[in-house]
Amino acid sequence: MLLSEDHRAVQDAVRAFVQQEIAPHAARWDKECHFPAAELKGLAALGCYGIAVPAEWDGAGLDYLALAIILEEIAAGDGATSTVVSVTNCPVCSILMAWANDAQKAQWLRPLARGDMLGAFCLTEPHVGSQADGLKTTAVRVSDADGDAYVINGVKQFITSGKNGDVAIVMAVTDKAAGKKGISAFIVPTATPGYIVARLEDKLGQHASDTAQIVFENCRVPAANLLGDEGQGLRIALSGLEGGRIGIAAQSVGMARAAFEAALAYAKERVAFGKPIYEHQALQFRLGEMATSIEAARQLLHHAASLKDAQRPCLKEAAMAKLFASEMAEPGLRRLRLRERLPGRAHLPGRAGLPDLRGHVRCAEDPDRAGAGLRLEQGATR
Ligand SMILES: Cc1cc2nc3c(=O)[nH]c(=O)nc-3n(C[C@H](O)[C@H](O)[C@H](O)COP(=O)(O)OP(=O)(O)OC[C@H]3O[C@@H](n4cnc5c(N)ncnc54)[C@H](O)[C@@H]3O)c2cc1C
Repeated sequence: MLLSEDHRAVQDAVRAFVQQEIAPHAARWDKECHFPAAELKGLAALGCYGIAVPAEWDGAGLDYLALAIILEEIAAGDGATSTVVSVTNCPVCSILMAWANDAQKAQWLRPLARGDMLGAFCLTEPHVGSQADGLKTTAVRVSDADGDAYVINGVKQFITSGKNGDVAIVMAVTDKAAGKKGISAFIVPTATPGYIVARLEDKLGQHASDTAQIVFENCRVPAANLLGDEGQGLRIALSGLEGGRIGIAAQSVGMARAAFEAALAYAKERVAFGKPIYEHQALQFRLGEMATSIEAARQLLHHAASLKDAQRPCLKEAAMAKLFASEMAEPGLRRLRLRERLPGRAHLPGRAGLPDLRGHVRCAEDPDRAGAGLRLEQGATR
């Protein structure tokens, strides 16, 4: 798929920033679990927090193809940073764009899209992930001297930016008897009393992005923070999936590309049996296969993003892109034997900052629905 001049310009600008400000530090951030707040501000200034949010709501006014391109570039520099940016865009900004009223958009979408705030999305609970309708977290409506409000109680699990985020979209049960139609969505500022960061998860990779367990303990938000109507929560949550999958596919492509580029550079530099190992045909086969897988994933991704930009249904295509991209990345890295061959990566010019990419891509395989769920959905939407 050919990119327009505008998309190429966006790609060049983000690539330049990422390769200068992010990639050289990514390995250290990963090791030190450092949250790159300053660099995220730089990305925000480039419009990376509200990529597909229209300019009238302070977003970059671009499209989902641009979102795919930008997230690939960020992930090529650091998978963790790309996860933080990805979640703020989709599902957080995309859900607010689709479901928030004008007052909510003015209060929450504007600062998120400008990059003044970071978003989080609280759906998963310790006992449910793929089966998103089995939530136990509750929100009870109260009316008292302090006004109309909802009081949220429960536990949310694996929440990206649960600690460093400023505002979260939280799914909670408002009517247990109504089942799937008894779930509602709320906008919850993370500074609200009762929003408790109970634990930070220790992941295989992407340590610069916090993944938190959040406990809601009598967390009271104004009734005006209800998104849409009561009972629309599951629809709201699932509406963020297409964009979220495009985001995760883009991250996987970016991380795989970074690994491929490191392997290629190493293969050209490392000499064995009298010539750079790149010139041994067996190695060229492996590099060629990896390059083909990355390009195939990118084309699936751009196709899904283009369908979304044309406002055509793309849940199946986004699931295919995410499934293929996330599942090609990890075996691809194993096949290139990156971990064994490039232990410190310090000897590779320009690649000294490469973190353990295999851990990074493993983290991209799971969010939003694991592989089995994606396969089931593709079967169901055929
Ligand atoms: C790095 C990271 C970041 C995340 N960020 C967020 C976030 O910001 N917000 C949020 O809400 N959640 C987040 N998640 C959670 C993520 O959405 C869930 O992990 C995902 O939905 C899977 O749920 P689960 O872990 O409970 O697995 P389960 O649903 O328990 O699934 C476990 C295994 O069973 C398989 N399985 C499940 N159902 C079926 C079936 N019907 N048929 C066959 N096999 C099946 C799955 O494929 C999987 O292999 C994050 C997860 C990770 C790893």
